[in-house]
Formats: sequence, structure tokens, C-alpha cells
Amino acid sequence: MTSSLRYNWRIVGHLPLLRQLESDVADNRLPNAYIFSGPPEIGKRTVMMTLAHILQCERDYCHDCITCTQIEKGIHSETIEFRDDGETLGVDPIRDLLARLSLTPSSRYKLVLIERAERMTVEAANCLLKILEEPPPQTLFMMTTDTIREILPTVISRSRVLQFQPCRKEELVEWLAAKYLAEDERKLDFAGEISLGRPGVAYKLMEDPAMMDFYKSLYADLTRFLQFNNIFERFAYLQNIVEDRQKINIFLDIFLNILRHKLLTEPAQRARCLAIIERVYEVKRTLRVPVNQRLLLEHLMLSF
Ligand SMILES: [Zn+2]
Repeated sequence: MTSSLRYNWRIVGHLPLLRQLESDVADNRLPNAYIFSGPPEIGKRTVMMTLAHILQCERDYCHDCITCTQIEKGIHSETIEFRDDGETLGVDPIRDLLARLSLTPSSRYKLVLIERAERMTVEAANCLLKILEEPPPQTLFMMTTDTIREILPTVISRSRVLQFQPCRKEELVEWLAAKYLAEDERKLDFAGEISLGRPGVAYKLMEDPAMMDFYKSLYADLTRFLQFNNIFERFAYLQNIVEDRQKINIFLDIFLNILRHKLLTEPAQRARCLAIIERVYEVKRTLRVPVNQRLLLEHLMLSF
């Protein structure tokens, strides 16, 4: 499926988006900044890094020149990356960046890569805005974000936003099958299904047996909860996840997956499934602000 692309983006899916990037590069119509927006583990950073290679390599993304090697190792002096370290990104590193960008370039571009740009404080984002308005020549910003609504509208309006869509399950399974030749088909199918179109999740599931077990047991438990209304079992189950936001997110995503599948395959359950889906989305929305997670989830468990 990737044969219509000029470069090897080392990624599954996102064909229309990659075509647009390739034509931006070919026509020399690069914006001052890109924002790659979409859920975690969907391929945003891979695309950002590959674009960095394509732009900086003197030999058309050859994979083995000094530039390509340095970018790969994260030591290329004019490909400046702010990796997501889980911390907020304050104004000082952005001020240092301003100073670095004012130096004469020695490579084709000065690239600034900001992973999860929503980590920027308002002060940092405002400082960045000044450069975004009038960047030094041959400078390109690339940012990724899981939640674009947390990024300043003034930053968004000065950027070209590309929205990443979940990959199709068939696409994912095909990709996994090519990667894991000896693997059991059912395992590939489960990983393709349960990862909700996110290649990063599918890959981790294949690589990490503990994670695979967690997903499998969650899938089995949630399927059972939908069949039997045993409130003691449901509440007891919450103990395992209620303190861990990441586990809660996985719990809600898998629940949605099961409900959507049921919606399509069991017409008699349609109204019930739609009502629960709406409730799960409501829980997801509520979780964006500080909230009593246990109460919220208990309420959800009581509602079906
Ligand atoms: Zn190269």
C-alpha cells in the first residue's frame, strides 16, 4: 500500500497525510510550523523524525550518511528535539532555543521538534510565538500533541495542523504479520483489534507479554461484566485500576472497543450499547479535569 509514496516512512497507515507531506517537500511549500495531532501511539513522532531525516539528508534520506546517523542518535546539532520527559516545558529552554536559532545554519534546515507541545507553559508558548511569527530562514518547527485543545490558539493559527486518524485493523494486522512471521494468527488479530488503530500499542502488545496479558484479561472481564450484573465483582475489579490513570484510559478504550463490536454484531443490544458508549465518553470527558476517579468509575459500573 505504500508503493505510491516516494520515501519509506517506516510506518503503517496515514497515507493521505504522508502524501501531503511529500508534496509539501517536493513543491517547497513548507509552513513555519507543523502540528501533528492525534491520540498517543499512533505514529506522530515517527512521522516527525522521518520528515527531519528527509529534510536534512543531503542524499535524499539515504539512512547511512553522517547526517542521517546523527539524527537517528539524537545528536544532530541543528535538529533540536524536546522529547517528552513527562515534565512541563518552561520558558528557559525556549529562550535558549532562540539564541541557538540565531546562529548561521550549517545544515540544510534548522529543525525544532517538540514532542507533546501541550507540555509548554503559557510563558513558553508565548515566547515560541515570537519565533513562529518571524522564524529565521530555513527554520521549521514540528510539534506533536495528544490534546490540541490544550495548545494556545495563537500557536495553532500559525501552524499547519495535520490530524492523524486511527489505522484500519486490516492494515495493522497485515503490518504485524509482515513483522512477526512466525506468530500465531489469533495473536496478531487480537493485537490489531484491541490496539484501536494505534500501531505503537499493537507493537508493544506483541513485544510485551505482560501488557498483552493485561489487555486480554481486561477484555475478558469487561465482556463478562456486560453479560452479568454482579456489582460486587465490578467494584472489586476497580481496585486494580482506580489509582492508575493510564490503566483507566486503557480500561475505557477497551470497553469502547467491545461495545462498538457488540453494536455491530448484536442488533438486539443496539440501544443498550449506544447508551453505555455515551456514558463512557462522558467519563472520558470528565477525566480531563481533576476528579474523584473512584466515584466516577463506580458510577459507570452501576449504570449498565
Ligand atoms: Zn542521509
